Amino acid sequence: MNKVKCLIIGSGPAGYTAAIYASRANLQPVLIEGPQLGGQLTTTTEVENFPGYPDGVEPFTMMDDMRRQAERFGTQFVSGIVTKVDFSVSPKKVWVEDTEEYEADAVIIATGASAKYLGIESERTYKGRGVSACATCDGFFYRKKTVAVVGGGDTACEEANYLAGLCEKVYMIVRKPYLRASEIMQQRVLNNPKIEVLFEHNTIQLTGEGKVQGADLVYRKGEPDEELRHIDINGFFLAIGHHPNTELFKDYLRRDAEGYILVEGDSPRTNIPGVFAAGDCADPHYRQAVVAAGSGAKAAIEADKYIKSL
Ligand code: NDP
Repeated sequence: MNKVKCLIIGSGPAGYTAAIYASRANLQPVLIEGPQLGGQLTTTTEVENFPGYPDGVEPFTMMDDMRRQAERFGTQFVSGIVTKVDFSVSPKKVWVEDTEEYEADAVIIATGASAKYLGIESERTYKGRGVSACATCDGFFYRKKTVAVVGGGDTACEEANYLAGLCEKVYMIVRKPYLRASEIMQQRVLNNPKIEVLFEHNTIQLTGEGKVQGADLVYRKGEPDEELRHIDINGFFLAIGHHPNTELFKDYLRRDAEGYILVEGDSPRTNIPGVFAAGDCADPHYRQAVVAAGSGAKAAIEADKYIKSL
């Protein structure tokens, strides 16, 4: 059993920023890195809106910078996944990979959010064989091929642009007659000759022998001019939003209907004293790296206050 003052779960901008603040406050934090080192940001291509990087920055570089900054002040990193917690006791208990047990005076949850899928059967059939939720991770396999990106938000636009740099052609499958993405991202998509936006289209199923070779779509579903259409594609990328990674805490923490951890006002305090939530796991609205980083700082400051009050 390991006894620590402050345990941080998650290695995205919220987790690393909490670690920088907690280590500078001499809390000697231990940070459990989780399944995706560097968090969700590492699935995008370039970060252009984080202050301090006027020319943009590669996400892995930015996350590594944050990690090294936390390390400089003494944060200890543990690679592994938290599989169980017990917040009914004090200190709180956290298990990594079911075997390694930690007792912590304060816990900062920064577990982020994960990609959503449409929920159609063929999506599961072809997972890893043409279906992906990460263009940066898998785009390379589709060089000079034709792919589709589902969604009309900033993520979908970003992924479509990235894939257009590698692929012969990119379809965007958008269920509404417009894109929800920010104006600048929309313009990039609409001005890219390799991207064809299929507005008012929904995916019915994916087709192919052993791997994705096509998609059956429906245009203007339920309308008098509804029409079935087929596109030939080699890859199908989901970019339809995310759900928070908070299942593990459901027996202890209050969450909203979508699973986001509920916090007290604009503080990172959860319903359990000594347990704090930061970043996308508690933020259904902004979901930005810089906002997550800010909430990580708040969580560490609150954790410090809490520990000193014990
Ligand atoms: P969003 O929730 O903004 O967009 C999701 C998109 O997927 C919408 O177009 C939505 O359609 C569509 N969608 C959802 N469910 C389905 C479904 N079942 N079938 C078909 N389409 C579906 O998520 P994002 O991941 O794009 O963005 C999340 C947040 O992160 C946003 O605030 C965004 O601005 C931000 N972000 C910022 C970036 C940047 O600034 N560089 C990069 C990436 C994200 P509909 O519009 O009809 O609801």
